[in-house]
This record gives sequence, structure tokens and C-alpha cells, in this order.
Amino acid sequence: MKVFFDTVGCRLNQAEIEHMAAQFRAAGHQVIETAENADLVVVNTCAVTAAATSDSRQKARQAHQAGAQRIVLTGCWATLEPDKARDLPGVSDVISNLEKMNLPLKVVESEFLDFDTEPIARQPLPGVHSHTRAFIKAQDGCDNFCTFCVTRVARGKGQSIPKEEILEDILRAERGGVREIVLSGVHLGSWGRDGDNDETITDLLSYLLNHSHIERIRLSSIEPWDLDERFFELWKDPRLCPHLHLPLQSGSAGVLKRMARHTSPAAFTDLISMVRSNIPGVSITTDIIVGFPGESEAEFDESLTFVNQMQFSGGHVFRYSMRDGTAAAKFPNQVDGKTSKMRAKIINAAIKASEEKYLSSFIGREVDVLWEASGVQSDKGWTLHGLADYYMKVEALADSNRWNKLDKVRIETIKNDSLIGKISKFD
Ligand code: SF4
Repeated sequence: MKVFFDTVGCRLNQAEIEHMAAQFRAAGHQVIETAENADLVVVNTCAVTAAATSDSRQKARQAHQAGAQRIVLTGCWATLEPDKARDLPGVSDVISNLEKMNLPLKVVESEFLDFDTEPIARQPLPGVHSHTRAFIKAQDGCDNFCTFCVTRVARGKGQSIPKEEILEDILRAERGGVREIVLSGVHLGSWGRDGDNDETITDLLSYLLNHSHIERIRLSSIEPWDLDERFFELWKDPRLCPHLHLPLQSGSAGVLKRMARHTSPAAFTDLISMVRSNIPGVSITTDIIVGFPGESEAEFDESLTFVNQMQFSGGHVFRYSMRDGTAAAKFPNQVDGKTSKMRAKIINAAIKASEEKYLSSFIGREVDVLWEASGVQSDKGWTLHGLADYYMKVEALADSNRWNKLDKVRIETIKNDSLIGKISKFD
């Protein structure tokens, strides 16, 4: 059977489709790069914003238009609105997040009766979701109650994947030639909390560093609380990428309180100093929501000032999106679209300015780059695109396509949001 996987949203969704693709391949099916000629299309949907919901529906419609024989929807939007998902043309099954990891068994039971459980080497997904990096799921769900968040409604309680299973996934990736893994979860920092032996994310990382040889480990996103000095001390090991994505969401104390975030501008400031003193030159990226219900002009200014102080090396700015089933949907004083659009523009510009400053600090320096996208050939050679361990996009010319090679690159200049340089040491 030919199977195409599509996804919307976060890295956890990407980790999940990579995992499902491996299960289908292990059972002898072929994973293909588009929905055309697919016997089965699986779309891992997202509901984090209204735009993500609309993208999810769009992906299902595109698969139907491409002539897919059968479409299965899973993920957060399909879990929250299964009837609407089922009504889309061509959709045969809707699998909730709770049952997602058994999706292959549920949708094509007979082919999986004698499922070859021998773990096979990882292969990157073909097509637009192809990455040299492997996205590894370590955790799902969340026990927090951030008032804007529909993800926790769709994903349920926090659940940690046993460390042995995570390691097995990483070893499978290593066997497939993977050089970098991205550890993913809804609330990765809570890993271990649902277990009974007091292990934490710090213990998980030590275990993975001690039992694998993977050259780079990156964390997808980690909430800015519950992290102690012991956690950051692990970064003495250069295999941990000097990049942390710490979602702040707002720089206003009042807004953070109404969001029910377990942090404050003061606590976040302390955290950032601890990170920067333990991981020199670290890249810190973030997420900010603007236009949260009741966000006054003064609170927005406070948030902007704080974002400027933090000097993030990048980030995503979201306009607050009212999601049914969340506490904030019922909050008074919803901010109008025009105001939130303008605020998004202002915060975006602030983050862009600090990002540019951070990128400039690399001019003249050498960085380790994993070539991610397949190069483009011209009469000048191959134009390569990759990611530095610090998580900046890097571009360089080479005589050959160096996909999945880890080279040293001396940075010469910046173009748009990428660093441009010359390879100074080949893998
Ligand atoms: S920590 Fe908050 S924002 Fe993150 S998944 Fe949990 S409830 Fe949602």
C-alpha cells in the first residue's frame, strides 16, 4: 500500500508522523511523497489557532482533490471536532490523539496482524516533511491549565514515554544515519513526573547522552519553569545544542497571571541569566501572544519593553485566537483584530531587531552546520542550506551536494534571516 503523511503544527506532530511512517514501513508499506496515487493519506491535524484548524481542513481537501483513495485524520483538531472532520470529503476514519499511536493497527488491521516489531533503521519522510533531523517523541499531554491553550484539552494529561523506548527510537535514527535528533513533547520539561521513581527531564537527558552516540541533541520547546541549575549544567556536553526555545507568551505580569502561566517577568529574567551563564552564546527563542483578552495598552507596552530586554535570538508572534473549551474564550474585554494585528507587527519588529543583532555576532566566526535541505545545483556549484547548532539558518556553496554532512562554516555575512559563509572544514 502507498501511504502519504501530512501534518500541520508543532514538532510533536512531525515526530508522530515520522513514528507512524516507520510503523507502516516496518509492515511492508511504501511511504510516498505526495497524496497523488496514495492508497492512504494520514493527516496529523492541529488546533492551536484558527489558522491551524483551517490549514488542517485544507490538507484533507487537498488530499481528496489529489485522488487519495482513503483519508484518515488524527491530531488535535480531529480530536476536538471529530464530527466536522468526518464530514470532510474522502475522510474514512478519525482517530483521536488517545489512539493515535495505534493508528496503523486501527486503520489497516489485517496488514498489521503479523507486524514485524523488529525496529528498522529510520528513513526521512519523502516530500515536504523530509528532514535530516529526526523528531523523537518523548512526552505527550500536559497537566497545566494555561487559559488560552486548547492543546491540553486535545492531548489530555501529561504522559512520559519510557526512557528505554525513547532511546530505542534514537538508536533506530542512528542506524539510519541521523546526526541530530529533536526531542519533542507538549510539556517536555514535565517528563518523568507521571512516573514513580522521581526521574526528571535532567535524568532523561543524562541517560540519552550516556547510552547513545547521536552527535546532536536538541530540545523542541521547554516551558520556562521547573528547570534548575543541574539541568543547564548538562550543556557542558557539546552534543546538546546551545539553543533553547522558552515560550514566554507575554512580558506583562498581569497578562501572564491571567494566562495562568507559572512564570513572571522576574522569574523569567532569573531563568535567562541562569541559562546564559551556563551556556555561553546560547540562542534563546520564544513565543509571544499579543491581544490576549484584556491586554491593555500599558500591559502591551510592558510586554514590549520586556521582550526588548530579553534580546531573544528569534521567535514566533501569534495573535490571540479564541478557542472553544478554553477559559480565556469566556474572558471579558477581548481585543479587536486591528489592535492585535498592529501589536503583532510591533513585537515582531522587536524580535527581528534582536535576532539581527544575535546573527551579526557570528560574522567572522565558525559554526557547525548540518546540511538539511537538498542542495540546488547551478554553474556556481551547489547552494546548501542547513542549520547551525545555535539554530540559525546557514547557506554556503560547495562542489557537491552535502546533504546530512556536518561541516564547519566560517560566516561572512547575513542575507535576510540566514547566515552566509564558506565551508572551512569538511565533515
Ligand atoms: S504548558 Fe500551557 S501552553 Fe503548554 S501545553 Fe500545557 S497548558 Fe498548553
